[in-house]
Amino acid sequence: MNKNDLILVTGAGGFIGGSLVRYFTNKGFTRIRAVDKKPLPMWYQRTPGVENLCLDLSEQKNCHKATEGTAEVYQLAADMGGMGFIERFRIECMRSILINVHMVEAAYRAGCQRYFFSSSACAYNVKLQVDPNCRALKESDAYPAFSERGYGWEKLYTEMLCQEYWAERKMRTAFARFHNVYGPWGTWDGGREKAPAAICRKVIEAKDTGKKEIMIWGDGSQTRSFMYIDDCVMGIDKIVHADNLIATPINLGSNQLISVNDLVSLAEKIGGVKLKRKYDLTAPRGVGGRNSDNTFIKKMLNWEPGIPFEKGLVPTYKWIEQQYNDRKAGKETVRDTI
Ligand code: NAD
Repeated sequence: MNKNDLILVTGAGGFIGGSLVRYFTNKGFTRIRAVDKKPLPMWYQRTPGVENLCLDLSEQKNCHKATEGTAEVYQLAADMGGMGFIERFRIECMRSILINVHMVEAAYRAGCQRYFFSSSACAYNVKLQVDPNCRALKESDAYPAFSERGYGWEKLYTEMLCQEYWAERKMRTAFARFHNVYGPWGTWDGGREKAPAAICRKVIEAKDTGKKEIMIWGDGSQTRSFMYIDDCVMGIDKIVHADNLIATPINLGSNQLISVNDLVSLAEKIGGVKLKRKYDLTAPRGVGGRNSDNTFIKKMLNWEPGIPFEKGLVPTYKWIEQQYNDRKAGKETVRDTI
């Protein structure tokens, strides 16, 4: 790809989109368009030299505006959040279909050469994810389909949409099933945050208030794998530019399985504190266990996300601590609401 070709990143006011814009800028791309529906002051990151547009992409005309002249499109806009959000707001999650239906068509009409869609491990059959010691999910496990209600079905439908734009119209599409992404510049409070950020924040809060206890959602035995943001953006780049992965489902996640209880212990270790654990068994907890089988990605790319959770959680914790302190001091911080 030419360094002067126009790249569009949507959902760029959020966590992964904002980091992807920075990644491409650092790689030397000179023409990047970033789009999000949030007003600009609320974007998590704004990279200098980038064309930032505030557009609601659930509206068709805005998708045409956003995709005009683009060579590559990275579609990360979605109404989403952690379990606390996707279990409560299934309609909002499903309405992201409007963004995806309009965006892929607009990209096609704009003559876009490569189109990326951010899918999710929530597309997988939930019946395979009951046990905390479940076997890792491989790409074929999405069918027979029994996705996470709402959010997961929207992802699965859009994957198929991308496959048909390749099959019928020859637009190169790619999509990856992300497994929990974490890192600095992610949502850490407000109801959309995911487990690693929520646990770090609770540990920081407990230290600050001297309350010495932590409330954990579920019984803490539920397991997940967590991918550090740097692995995520690099993985997206590799997948989009691999011609043997066009319109092909692929996991993009770590295969290091961690229980929520282990996650709490790690955050406590970083914070240098030990807290009394309380469990809220009525809170959303999601599936019992979920891990990424990386056999396919290793075979296709000779690469897999490899940043260990113990390593990635340190800068994440420190960044959230800084955000927490800044907010207390009345300074601007990253914020999102439901
Ligand atoms: P995020 O919420 O931080 O970012 C999404 C952004 O999309 C937000 O800034 C939001 O304002 C924007 N958006 C929502 N509706 C829009 C609209 N109508 N028009 C324009 N912008 C709109 O989420 P994220 O963690 O950065 O996730 C990015 C993508 O990756 C999403 O598609 C998400 O489903 C997928 N994903 C993320 C994870 C994860 O762990 N973070 C896991 C699996 C899949």
